[in-house]
Amino acid sequence: DKWIQAFPCSCPSGVILGFSLRPYKMSYREVKYFSFPGELLMRMLQMLVLPLIVSSLVTGIAALDSKASGKMGVRAVVYYMSTTIIAVLIGIIIVVIIHPGKGTKENMHREGKIVQVTAADAFLDLIRNMFPPNLVEACFKQFKTNYEKRKFKVAIPSNDTSTVTSIISNVSEAMEALTRMKEEIVPVPGSVNGVNALGLVVFSISFGLVIGSMREQGQALKDFFDSLNEAIMRLVALIMWYAPLGILFLIAGKIVEMEDMGVIGGQLAMYTVTVIIGLLIHAVIVLPLLYFVITRKNPWVFIGGLIQALVTALGTSSSSATLPVTFKCLEEINGVDKRVTRFVLPVGATINMDGTALYEALAAIFIAQVNNFDLNFGQIITISITATAASIGAAGIPQAGLVTMVIVLTSVGLPTDDITLIIAVDWFLDRLRTTTNVLGDSIGAGIVEHLSRHELKNRDAEMGNSVIEE
Ligand code: ASP
Repeated sequence: DKWIQAFPCSCPSGVILGFSLRPYKMSYREVKYFSFPGELLMRMLQMLVLPLIVSSLVTGIAALDSKASGKMGVRAVVYYMSTTIIAVLIGIIIVVIIHPGKGTKENMHREGKIVQVTAADAFLDLIRNMFPPNLVEACFKQFKTNYEKRKFKVAIPSNDTSTVTSIISNVSEAMEALTRMKEEIVPVPGSVNGVNALGLVVFSISFGLVIGSMREQGQALKDFFDSLNEAIMRLVALIMWYAPLGILFLIAGKIVEMEDMGVIGGQLAMYTVTVIIGLLIHAVIVLPLLYFVITRKNPWVFIGGLIQALVTALGTSSSSATLPVTFKCLEEINGVDKRVTRFVLPVGATINMDGTALYEALAAIFIAQVNNFDLNFGQIITISITATAASIGAAGIPQAGLVTMVIVLTSVGLPTDDITLIIAVDWFLDRLRTTTNVLGDSIGAGIVEHLSRHELKNRDAEMGNSVIEE
């Protein structure tokens, strides 16, 4: 267990290693090789997410009666909504006070191109994805979306293509150019790693409810998903041994490849500081205070138990890839009831993103500021609503928030191309908002457990013992 306590060290070690290798100016391919151990961690975690979401939701809900799960669900949704709105308000207040944008964007650095998408398209896609027509298909990458694909022109070097080797190197250069330009299909709202997680969440909740109401007839299915869940959690325990190393390389690799700080001009630097202050207020003041007020327990002890999950979020910048670790921390270190974590965490990781909501509102107003665009009160309300919706729709994958920001900007008529102004720092801010997202989900589990303690006790008494053995 000493090794697992090494988690917090993996961040600073990654930063040091990254900065000490920067002077060597590695090529794009060398960076890929160097970050390979980190990429493996990402893949292992993502591998477990789908079976984990399904088995935990089905068993978590089947272990409750429908009244208890209904109450718990309402509490969770009220918590998600209220903390998301608080986060949005913090973002708005802080960016209005600090005012990082100065009404000049001419000398700001730009990267890439952005697609257009309307709020209605995105909203319909979100609802559509709640009901996957084919469950097996829902587990595969989702390419069907109303969004246009981003189109980039790739300049394939047109020197000698007569030999096989030069064709191969031209193709691979083109591929590298494509990857560098972040060419990708815009993620489907509510998707995790391209998979329709929202659809699976809705299905698993309904399935769990039905199994729970079936009594003896449902027992076989309950046992099956219970033991599937247990097996997955054991795999998570194995991956935890590898995680500190993977995180170290994820962070070091990113630092090696990041752009020179030179491109980060004054306004962008101020913007970055503003986002950091906003996220800190939410994560270090608001959420712990809320936890304390509701549960009367020490929030720092609770947060201390989450270190591994928070470090994983920082390293992977994906709240869904972090989900297995969040489960481990909450259940094994903080001792949160499994019926609560199994129910609340998969839903939270899919729809509850405080950090993303705060960031989207703040970034939209920053873009208004650099455009000298005066927002009236109604437009600020529109930004709060669309930022909340955009955070619900954002997938728990790296930089998904940047994509759903298009919705916020279009809603008040701001130029969506100006997202390119903030791309340079997004990889960094993404890590911080992901960590805030994971913290929000975890504190939510703690609060919902506290509020549901009577139902849980009654249920235990009814069943004569604990439903899910510790
Ligand atoms: N990367 C974030 C997450 O996984 C989403 C975002 O881009 O804001 O929670």
